[in-house]
Amino acid sequence: MDKKTVKRLTDHILYLPADHDTDRPILAAISGSERTVIVDAGNSPAHARSFLEQLSGFGLPKMEYLFITHWHWDHIFGMKEWNLPTIAHRETKRELQKLIGLDWSDAALDQRVASGTEIAFCADMIKKEFPGELRHAIEPVLPQLTFDSQAEIDLGGITCLLQHVGGDHAQDSAVLFVKEEKVLFLGDALGPAIYAPERYYVPEHFLALLEQVESFGAATYIESHLFPQTQEQFAHDLNEMRWMAQAVLDHQGGREAVTAEMSQRLNRELSRDDLAVISYFLEGYRKHLA
Ligand SMILES: [Zn+2]
Repeated sequence: MDKKTVKRLTDHILYLPADHDTDRPILAAISGSERTVIVDAGNSPAHARSFLEQLSGFGLPKMEYLFITHWHWDHIFGMKEWNLPTIAHRETKRELQKLIGLDWSDAALDQRVASGTEIAFCADMIKKEFPGELRHAIEPVLPQLTFDSQAEIDLGGITCLLQHVGGDHAQDSAVLFVKEEKVLFLGDALGPAIYAPERYYVPEHFLALLEQVESFGAATYIESHLFPQTQEQFAHDLNEMRWMAQAVLDHQGGREAVTAEMSQRLNRELSRDDLAVISYFLEGYRKHLA
């Protein structure tokens, strides 16, 4: 699938697929009869522009808001390019405040990785997305509109519910649910915590988050760095993770018992990905006890 071209998801939703080369997340435009809201700003002005320029060919209703799912660089470095009022959870604003005025040079990034306030994966991707001179284009800005628990945007016949869900990946994570089309934009909410020496999921946190996510009753699920998924695909993948989280709790963090139970339950030899996710849950279990 061509990751550089805008795709239509439904009558009211267009999106630009994720691009793993420089960790670009999915960007989306949701339109009602009156206005359009953009989901996530992109990881650079160039990323934002590539979506913005293509959108001009669709004759959408006026773009009026930009919604940010969480504070991570790949979702916000394109903010200024949109020149739109931005709405985000209040914790997202607080996190973005910490990014303003930071030095994004190679030396400063390397120093932050060494001191543990940045991680190597993000530093490497920032260097790749912003080679040399382009680094000056990094200019985080703050959202003008914030909400605590939830907010609603009426686009004209199409309603977007913004709901804070938190989670280990980013405590400020908020999702966007398009009520009439039952499409749920998850951002990275279901990802593991990454700003840590080892990636992790606290099993209890993950299980609570899953319950919250499932309560929307969505038909289509969009995680920022994956392809859109139907309810069936999503439930299949998430059920396996639910079992892993539960097995880690049931076996009180005993790796061998967990892997034995999981390979029996999944009826296959565990893949590298399976083992990685189990390790994240084990790490989260240990952290939570500590
Ligand atoms: Zn993220």
